[in-house]
Amino acid sequence: MKVSVLVIALLSLVVLATARKQMATRYDNFKVYKAFIRDVEQLEEFKKIHHHIHIHMLHDIGGVNRSYEVVVGPAHQKAFETTLYYLDIEFEITIEDLQALLDESAYDPDAAMDWVTYHPLDKIYDWVDEQCAAHDYLDCKVIGHSYEGRPIKSVRLSKREGNKAILIEGNIHAMEWISSATVTYILNQLINSNDAELQRLTEEYDWIVVPMVNPDGFVYTHEVERLWRKNRRPNGYSNSSGLCYGIDMNRNFDFHWSGAGWGIEDPCDHWFNGEQPNTEIEILQLQDFVSSFDEGYIRAYMAFHAYGQYILLPYGHSNTEFPPNYDQMMRIAAAFAEGALDSYGSEFTYGASGLLNYPVSGAAKDWAYGVKNIPFTCTVELRDKGTFGFFLPSNQITEVGVEVTEGLKSLVVKAAEEGIFD
Ligand SMILES: [Zn+2]
Repeated sequence: MKVSVLVIALLSLVVLATARKQMATRYDNFKVYKAFIRDVEQLEEFKKIHHHIHIHMLHDIGGVNRSYEVVVGPAHQKAFETTLYYLDIEFEITIEDLQALLDESAYDPDAAMDWVTYHPLDKIYDWVDEQCAAHDYLDCKVIGHSYEGRPIKSVRLSKREGNKAILIEGNIHAMEWISSATVTYILNQLINSNDAELQRLTEEYDWIVVPMVNPDGFVYTHEVERLWRKNRRPNGYSNSSGLCYGIDMNRNFDFHWSGAGWGIEDPCDHWFNGEQPNTEIEILQLQDFVSSFDEGYIRAYMAFHAYGQYILLPYGHSNTEFPPNYDQMMRIAAAFAEGALDSYGSEFTYGASGLLNYPVSGAAKDWAYGVKNIPFTCTVELRDKGTFGFFLPSNQITEVGVEVTEGLKSLVVKAAEEGIFD
């Protein structure tokens, strides 16, 4: 009797485990809507829609005169469209079937590391380990572990004593797969490309790369919900949706924290910035890692995100206050945009994020600039400008990598001219 109970228990565990593997949410016939918000009245009503219709906002709602994207399942599309008509909010459907688009991206967990496919965390980390083992000028460290215990890996490339460093971080937002794909592309170029100019830049500068700041969220986007943005720490309870998980880690850094933005207090929201700043283990370890280097060593800090093709400079919390060397950072950002344009004609817009976007605080680039005194910091919003948005097909990864590497080359040259590395 006892044995059969045990067998049944074990069998159900196996069934559960199998079910868990297959549980990744599908988005068959889910549409992506782009709604244009004209005025404050519309904005206030738009913010409330998710209280009564089950929708997934892809952006935090920060200001008027701009578009916001929303994912809506088949059961709720009619109600959503009716509501928009009622509120006189203009909209278009940008993606007719989200699952069909996701299926277009090559995703093969067994494929070797490349930049035409999106890869799971293990594949990315195995590749990082292989590079570290093969090149003695790479110093590879686990800078800490995520809430669920996954390593956060770093690679420091240094070929010469006394160099100054450029730090690149990726995928703090889980769903932005193009971020870690691009950051690993750049790292691969720095290590393995024959481009003479790029190799010169690896002799004269150190490069520090943290390809995956949010491993828990990233794994969750692969195994459960492709649209997940935050980390996975249980953070509270919401009457509307029960237990809540995760903090938007690029809203949790302690520089003018919570000084601007939507003021999201529901812990289930995708942009919940925490009860207070600096609460998340992943970003605390990233901060400790940055602080472990001598002051003045890291001279540029670049955080890679999607999407919109922007170089967002400090500050995020204000559109009236600007950093002391803002004009200089603008010239450096312009050099990136010029360099990136040549390959495929992709245009990058640059400027203070509070100005180009809307005031939002607690981002890594603002902390790196405002607290760590790194003289050039930015958020790079990669392709595209909204055609595929967060769901950029994998056949664009290499092109994004190429244009961003070209942008980076110009950026470093210009930053040197401007005395950033002195
Ligand atoms: Zn992001």
